[in-house]
Amino acid sequence: MDVLELYRKTGALLEGHFLLRSGRHSPVFLQSAALLQHPLFAEAVGEAIAEKFPDERFDFVIGPAIGGVVLSFVVARALGARAVFAEKTPEGGMTIRPGLEVNAGDRFLAVEDVVTTGGSLRKAIEAAKARGAVLQAAAAIIDRSGGTARFGAPFVALARLEAPVHDPEACPLCRRGVPLEEV
Ligand SMILES: [Zn+2]
Repeated sequence: MDVLELYRKTGALLEGHFLLRSGRHSPVFLQSAALLQHPLFAEAVGEAIAEKFPDERFDFVIGPAIGGVVLSFVVARALGARAVFAEKTPEGGMTIRPGLEVNAGDRFLAVEDVVTTGGSLRKAIEAAKARGAVLQAAAAIIDRSGGTARFGAPFVALARLEAPVHDPEACPLCRRGVPLEEV
């Protein structure tokens, strides 16, 4: 599966000159929701991630809300595991959504659509570990961390994207006068 092509085709990967929410500028903007809104594409992505783990058994797949909810569901469906998600707490951490089952000793896979720093995925992992579950692996659709993201378990991605992010004062696109789009 050419996942970047699927991102482009569905408008989930935009190329140009973007003002990111962080205030920095990038020639690439990813909005996975544009892809994941299509159930058949979402399912195909879920199956492609599941295929990375032919010999693993997972009790559940967890993703950080909101982006990780659909993804954990489609990956869990392909793996025959439960789909779980973690949501933000007012204190800045993450907690397992009430009603979702996470047991001590459960083996789990942690997933996120795009890993940049991996911060929210790590928080979701911590929420599951706090219940005694055991992380087996982490996975992303796109890894744009430049290989720096670490989760304390094997990490796989369907695609890697080396998209630079610039401080506004050092942005080569600004210097060339490319119009800035707010996203
Ligand atoms: Zn710029």
